[in-house]
Amino acid sequence: MQIVKNTVVSIDYTLTSDAGEVLDTSKGASPLVYLHGVGGLIPGMEKGLDGRHLGEAFKIKIAAGDAYGERRGELVQPVPRDKFAGATEIKVGQQFQAQTPQGPQVVTVVAVDETNVTIDANHPLAGQTLNFDVKVVDVRLATEGELQHGHVHGPGGHQHQ
Ligand code: ZN
Repeated sequence: MQIVKNTVVSIDYTLTSDAGEVLDTSKGASPLVYLHGVGGLIPGMEKGLDGRHLGEAFKIKIAAGDAYGERRGELVQPVPRDKFAGATEIKVGQQFQAQTPQGPQVVTVVAVDETNVTIDANHPLAGQTLNFDVKVVDVRLATEGELQHGHVHGPGGHQHQ
């Protein structure tokens, strides 16, 4: 079966950076299951999978613009230390969940001094070219309910009734 809009696709994948560092993998875990063609995955990934068949194994190289976007300098901002009153110790590299107008977002501490904590709200993979090794392990038609909800039900998806 072929990957077209409104199919439910399962893939095994390994994601590496351009430097060859493994950033993420489904090895040792369950395949990634998603509803194709509704924007559930990053645009470069959906493009790379479109039209492929069950059992195919291939590589997809995705530029930052088709993945998590370019890094934006304005998302790196100093925040007064007293905003972190609840945290006992703040270190470079620490991650916090912050409330933003776009919803909850993970921010990373990139610098700390006496008055300010500088945080970076860019996605950790922003600005990076992503290299995926992919194998298509299942393709099926989405059910009526899945199409109504816009997501996958059952294994790898939502477990609601
Ligand atoms: Zn649902």
